[in-house]
Amino acid sequence: MIDQDVLRHDFSAHLAKIAEFTNDELIPAEPEMVDDGAVPQRILDRMAALGLFGISIPRRYGGLGWTMEQQVRLTFEFTRASCVYRSRFSTVIGLCSQAILDHGTEAQRQEMLPAMATGDLVMAFALTEEEAGSDAAHLRTTAIRDGGDYLVSGSKRYITNGAWADAFLTFARTDPGEPGAAGVSALIVDARAPGVTTELPRYMNGHAEAPVAEIRFQDVRAGSERLLGGVEGRGLKMALRGINHARLHVAATCVGQATRMLEETTAHVTGREQFGGPLADLGAVRSTLGESYAELEAGRALVIECARTFDQGEIPRHRIAAAKLYCSEMAGKVADRCVQLLGGAGIVGPHPVPRMWRDVRALRIYEGSSPIHQRNLGRAMIEQVGADGTLPDTFRR
Ligand SMILES: Cc1cc2nc3c(=O)[nH]c(=O)nc-3n(C[C@H](O)[C@H](O)[C@H](O)COP(=O)(O)OP(=O)(O)OC[C@H]3O[C@@H](n4cnc5c(N)ncnc54)[C@H](O)[C@@H]3O)c2cc1C
Repeated sequence: MIDQDVLRHDFSAHLAKIAEFTNDELIPAEPEMVDDGAVPQRILDRMAALGLFGISIPRRYGGLGWTMEQQVRLTFEFTRASCVYRSRFSTVIGLCSQAILDHGTEAQRQEMLPAMATGDLVMAFALTEEEAGSDAAHLRTTAIRDGGDYLVSGSKRYITNGAWADAFLTFARTDPGEPGAAGVSALIVDARAPGVTTELPRYMNGHAEAPVAEIRFQDVRAGSERLLGGVEGRGLKMALRGINHARLHVAATCVGQATRMLEETTAHVTGREQFGGPLADLGAVRSTLGESYAELEAGRALVIECARTFDQGEIPRHRIAAAKLYCSEMAGKVADRCVQLLGGAGIVGPHPVPRMWRDVRALRIYEGSSPIHQRNLGRAMIEQVGADGTLPDTFRR
């Protein structure tokens, strides 16, 4: 349940509450989370009570219904803490709820969204397969008609929240004769249905406290009312709004992570003395911090600009791709510089920065890896440049 007073808060009161929660509860609980190898249950309960599972779900479906700009401003705050916390509700607020909101039938929205907003129904987004990573349209999982149902068979890997989700938004080929995206549909598959098994990996390099899962489907029955929007062959198109939404949230996450790493590192160099004074007195150290801060702020501005356009009703997909690419690379650079400034403490011991350095590495791989965004943006520019040498408005909006 979302707390009644949270439901009554206006946005600035909610933002202040989340900033307080981040400082007073999320950041202090990080060592406990690392020791236990999992997000503590009391923190998950608090995240649900504070409405974090419902920030993107409209009020009419039980969520907080914040605008995209408000969502990214909240994300800047709560991702000053470990981005593992965010992983636990990321698939609900981004990929899954937005696909259901935009493309689900009204019955699917009524059934799923209110429970998702309160954190009672966790959904995972099951797209990636062993043979279909960057090239997702070539997925092999099938959903074959059997009377009034579909029988789902195949396997997915690297699925965030896959091991504890209640349901999966599963992308499967309903038309095996159509090898590309047009043969793929999206189905809501119950995680407890007979024939579903999940497995956690033995090793995670980063995101260790919220490991991704492999999911296997063996003739798993899903009623036809579970077909997203009741339409076959449009699964990947339906996923696109959620993917753009999630990409912008990931870009905002990179901003939150870089903010915290710079805060921690500035505190470290101020306290650590070498050569007769604090490291903070060295010009090279100041330059590194200043350059990192400028890059961080460029990322923050780009995310807010994308969010404002999104709120005006248009999805600025090129700019969102640029924001995801830039911010994830920025967070990686900032992380690396911060580890350098920590010296041995960046490698040995429990300092949060090296843990975040490992965590942010994954942000350059999921939601479209950096090389894929570079390729897609460059390709779109080359394909769309006009004879007069100008690019269409979609590159400016
Ligand atoms: C922590 C984490 C969470 C994830 N969560 C989810 C989830 O919830 N749901 C889900 O469905 N998936 C999820 N994924 C999967 C993620 O989307 C894939 O890992 C990603 O799409 C890349 O696919 P791949 O790992 O198979 O890499 P590959 O496709 O094998 O690519 C490997 C590398 O090759 C390069 N490359 C590939 N193609 C090109 C190209 N055309 N041009 C240039 N370079 C290229 C890139 O550097 C790329 O990083 C998650 C992954 C991670 C690590």
